[in-house]
Amino acid sequence: MQNGKINLAKIIHPLDLEKVSETIKTSLDKGVNYHLEYRIFTKNNQEKWIGERGKGIFDSDDSLLAIEGIVTDISDRKTMEKQLSQARDKYLTVLENALEGIFQTTIYGYYLSVNKALAKIYGYDRPSDLIKRLNNNHNGLYVESGQKQKLIDLLKSQDIITNFESQVYNQDRNIIWISENARAVKDIDGDFLYYEGMVEDITNYKKAQEKLYYQAFYDQLTNLPNRQLFTQHLHRSLNKLKTDSTSHYQFSVLFLDCDRFKAVNDSLGHNIGDSLLVAIGERLKSCVGEKDILARLGGDEFTILCNDVENVKDVIQMVENIKTAFQECFMINEYQIFSAVSIGIFFSSSLDSDEYKKLTEAKILQYADNALYKAKSKKRGYYQIFQGDMHNEALANLQLENEIRQGLKEEEFLLYYQPIINLNNKKIKGFESLIRWNHPQKGLTSPYYFINLAEKTGLIIPISYWVLEEGCRQLKQWHDQINNNNNLFSGKLPTLNINLSSQEFSSENFLSELDRIIAQTQVAPEYLRLEITENSSIFQHEFILEILQEIVARKIQLWVDDFGTGYSNLSYLHKLPIHGLKIDCYFVKEIEINFTKAKMIKGILSLAKDLDLEVVIEGIETEKQLEIIQQMGGEFAQGYLFSQPVANTKAFDLLR
Ligand code: C2E
Ligand code: MG
Ligand code: MG
Repeated sequence: MQNGKINLAKIIHPLDLEKVSETIKTSLDKGVNYHLEYRIFTKNNQEKWIGERGKGIFDSDDSLLAIEGIVTDISDRKTMEKQLSQARDKYLTVLENALEGIFQTTIYGYYLSVNKALAKIYGYDRPSDLIKRLNNNHNGLYVESGQKQKLIDLLKSQDIITNFESQVYNQDRNIIWISENARAVKDIDGDFLYYEGMVEDITNYKKAQEKLYYQAFYDQLTNLPNRQLFTQHLHRSLNKLKTDSTSHYQFSVLFLDCDRFKAVNDSLGHNIGDSLLVAIGERLKSCVGEKDILARLGGDEFTILCNDVENVKDVIQMVENIKTAFQECFMINEYQIFSAVSIGIFFSSSLDSDEYKKLTEAKILQYADNALYKAKSKKRGYYQIFQGDMHNEALANLQLENEIRQGLKEEEFLLYYQPIINLNNKKIKGFESLIRWNHPQKGLTSPYYFINLAEKTGLIIPISYWVLEEGCRQLKQWHDQINNNNNLFSGKLPTLNINLSSQEFSSENFLSELDRIIAQTQVAPEYLRLEITENSSIFQHEFILEILQEIVARKIQLWVDDFGTGYSNLSYLHKLPIHGLKIDCYFVKEIEINFTKAKMIKGILSLAKDLDLEVVIEGIETEKQLEIIQQMGGEFAQGYLFSQPVANTKAFDLLR
């Protein structure tokens, strides 16, 4: 086809020539407009794209006169389109072959597209199956609910997020770890189009990380936390203590050491030693609470962090439980192994706020270890509470309680004896036994230091039985010595007053214990006087009459101690089989100048006379006091004027 001036066939790109001629021909045949895009060569032989819109011009006979049209150079647009298409192809290839999962979602998290790799990560054959699953709200992908929303919220606020790690369920409902990177895709005007993201399966990495973490923070033998992890937990507790002054938060650290471990290791070998450590770890685990951290520091050293200690007694209870648990032997192969533990305890409440501000994790472990060292040096298989300055009374009491227990085991208690004087002839009628504690650090201590606490904790019962037995044993020994030296002591046998605690008295087996002691020591019961303090409410109880009668039936006398200080209803005095009253030191003190006290003693003496009761007046320190008491008609007395309470041998010497 020719327009008369240019031979189009010469300038149209050979590949487009057919398309151009066909299109124009069809359009002319049908009498409609045509639109073409094709390549031509310019005069300089340059390739150009042109767009052509045209139509045929016909005469009245429908013969073609000419073609009328507009031609535009569209080379630029075509180049751009080509580049775009190439880019798109490239993108699709990348997408398809990418190892990372790739997805596009709407702003609401609705998945628009995913690639093969993502389908594979989640265990699907085809991307379409995955999209179906992902867009099904009832079939949660993320293990942690709310994780998807968290991702969406993050994207909304920051357009781009990296390394967003989550656990997800794959197609088999197995859990895998993924890491997501995503960004908001926007158009040229900055309007949001969709989110595009990449997903990486990091399960193997996480497993490796977990393994590394485990190796770094757990003991390989017992699978318990190791020193590092323990220190981290302790760091948190300490921080809480330092920063959270309002919550009364307290914690405790126990340092444990197995008493016979080294011997087992040396004699039975390391394999048995290792198995024993594992068994010990398991046994300890059964004794600690859910919130507590049990760790193995190394060797046979274990530690326990008791978090959020509400009551220090609970920790001591745990220590007791551990002790009990270790009373049972460990069966390792064919060996029966007994292993006790010693425990050093640190309580955060033992320090004041100034002290714990300076506290470090290492210091705490050191304190607990110091306490452990003490516990070990005292008595195997026991515990010791760390004492800084021990500001906390409850803790101090706990420590004292522990020491009393140890004192009983170590036989640190002893009896002193104070003579009771017959004022008519100034001779010793008998003694009162008074307990003393030969404390390893404090030396000889008075009962005022420990009796109260012993009563509160029930420890008074073992103490009291020991006193009863020891007193009877001693009295019998003296009697034997006197009987063997009749002329030395003019044959007069001393009596012994023994202080009884109301708890011992009301304990179920009191009478049988009393009988056992009398039988064992062979003491003559008619020389025994049991003192019960008037302050104890025991005199108000119904059952007392029966027991007192039983005691009296054994020819033992009953005396009321501290008489006049109890403010109790005196009616018990004639209802109960009581033999005598002891007037407390309090009344004698200042008797020379205090008229009221003097009158009270006089009153008690005359009351006792009326009721046919004997009276011992305690606390006579001066000649003047003695004179006044004698003038009032007092017959028996005790006091420093005659003798202080003294040790058994000295007491016996006083009898000569
Ligand atoms: P208590 O039974 O009334 O003993 C008399 C206390 O007065 C003794 O104190 C004695 O040493 C003290 N005393 C004696 N003469 C004088 C004096 O002239 N001046 C002064 N200021 N004090 C004098 P101790 O030995 O310290 O005993 C105190 C209390 O401890 C006893 O009072 C008794 O209640 C209790 N206690 C002592 N031994 C035992 C015991 O074996 N069992 C029980 N359950 N309690 C005991
Ligand atoms: Mg007494
Ligand atoms: Mg007394």
